[in-house]
Amino acid sequence: MRLILYAILGFIVYYLFKGLSRGTTKRSSPKQTPPSGKGKELKMDPVCGTYIPEDTPYRINYKGKLHYFCSESCMKTFQKRIAEREKR
Ligand SMILES: [Zn+2]
Repeated sequence: MRLILYAILGFIVYYLFKGLSRGTTKRSSPKQTPPSGKGKELKMDPVCGTYIPEDTPYRINYKGKLHYFCSESCMKTFQKRIAEREKR
């Protein structure tokens, strides 16, 4: 009788361990790290044509599209262009 009990206990322990290991591997497998830091995208300054990282403080949201600039002067030039375009 005891042997059967040990066998059942053994099975229970075995399945528990199997489930545990499956759970931990499942938790560690997805490689979904947030896209931060690595591979910064470069955006073209529409005024002078230089490429700047997209985290530049000089950017304008114009008609739902973000425009990036290398400097404040380029940003102002672009704003002037927009203003002239709106006049017409
Ligand atoms: Zn520029």
